[in-house]
Amino acid sequence: MILSMWFYSTRYGWPFSALFVIGIFVHEIGHVVVAAALRVPVSAPVFIPYFGALILQKKLAKNAWGEALIGIGGPIGGTIAGLIYLGIYAFTGNGLFAAVAYFTFFINLFNMVPMFPLDGGRIVGAVSPYLWLVGMVLLLVGFVTRIITSPLILVIVILTIPQVWTALKRGTADRGFVVTTQTQRVIMGIAYIGLSMFLFVVMAISAYLARESGGMPIRRSRPKPQSVASLQTSPAPYSVVRRSVELEADQPAHARP
Ligand SMILES: [Zn+2]
Repeated sequence: MILSMWFYSTRYGWPFSALFVIGIFVHEIGHVVVAAALRVPVSAPVFIPYFGALILQKKLAKNAWGEALIGIGGPIGGTIAGLIYLGIYAFTGNGLFAAVAYFTFFINLFNMVPMFPLDGGRIVGAVSPYLWLVGMVLLLVGFVTRIITSPLILVIVILTIPQVWTALKRGTADRGFVVTTQTQRVIMGIAYIGLSMFLFVVMAISAYLARESGGMPIRRSRPKPQSVASLQTSPAPYSVVRRSVELEADQPAHARP
């Protein structure tokens, strides 16, 4: 967790970084609380600098409904954290809090994409596994348009194809005898759409407030990367390797399972 704070602080400074990582922590606690209520053993949150954080489940919930509940616990926790930051901004007028709220809402909304390993993938499992296809397309579109640049997400998507395929053949994400009921599917569907829309709205509001109050963090300047032209004429393979590393390290941690 400290390492994560340090990592983001090298880009956005300590106060922003500490608040942002605490927001991620609250998201993870949301998963932990629901898992504990369902008696599913989980690890403490594990922080991976740059990539975010996750909890490790020692076993799966007993059905898709339980998985969805644990899945939605995180974004609900994260949303609460973001709302608290927004509330602090409302009281203090400190733009930093509006900016942290924006980043917190953004990362939680990104996690609602209906595909593994994101929370959205687990949530919509209780609605319909066909939504995983939607998530897969969204991630691929994000990758092609370079909104998502982490190649790791592509690897993870490929690794989940067998799981998605089996679920589609069965027509349900349920693995055992306990099958999600119609009512549960409707409830989780409404919760999923409602939370996503809410996150989108509060994200847009906090982005506006952060910009208005001048709280949006400015990434610290780094040496200008080589231009494409000079890269093409450069004979040394080293500079090419270096360039790809720079590109990857340049991206904010949008992908947070
Ligand atoms: Zn999560």
